[in-house]
Amino acid sequence: MLNRKAVVVLSGGLDSTTCLGIAADEGYSLYTLTFDYGQRHARELRAAEQVADYYQVADRRIVKLDFLRKIGKSALTDFHLSVPKNVHDGEDIPITYVPGRNLLFLSLAASFAEAIEAQAIYIGVNALDYSGYPDCRPQFIQAVQKVLDVGTKTAVEGAPISLQTPLLHLTKAEIIRWGHRLGVPYQLTTSCYEGAEEACGECDSCRLRLRGFKEAGLVDPIPYRSL
Ligand SMILES: [Zn+2]
Repeated sequence: MLNRKAVVVLSGGLDSTTCLGIAADEGYSLYTLTFDYGQRHARELRAAEQVADYYQVADRRIVKLDFLRKIGKSALTDFHLSVPKNVHDGEDIPITYVPGRNLLFLSLAASFAEAIEAQAIYIGVNALDYSGYPDCRPQFIQAVQKVLDVGTKTAVEGAPISLQTPLLHLTKAEIIRWGHRLGVPYQLTTSCYEGAEEACGECDSCRLRLRGFKEAGLVDPIPYRSL
């Protein structure tokens, strides 16, 4: 049990922070990987730092992925595109989808995990709230696990890396309840797509978060501009 290592992809948001809390609860030594990919603000990165401090992680890495901002095509990376203000309900893929994001994140997480001889990678993907994102679906996660099994030295030599997605099939309220039980510091997290100091309370991500807390019967501890 001791000295099992997990790499946790940490954005500083609610889901990834809950994943970090779950990995801590599982007894893993924690290694966080945070991506600076041209988010609308440095707010997320600061939240990730504070959360990593809170959990006293063994090591943390910040990877600058300027490439995603340069190729644009997403409302999260392209300043010319505005972030939608309504909860996404349609069948189409939302404009906040970032091309290849989780494929890139997991490739680098696998690289880090293999280098430090970690047993697991945690990523807070969720197929319910973000069903529009193809790289948040179970099929994608299963496929990446296969890639890790055949494409890493550690797996070929008998020590595979397990891709853990504990939030995959949970509602936001279920995620929050689980995290609340584990004492996850939601006051340090940020979810707003705008990236301002205070959350807007109106974007897709804020609405999902607020609805989740409400359904969980809990109060969101972060400040909102419009509430
Ligand atoms: Zn917002």
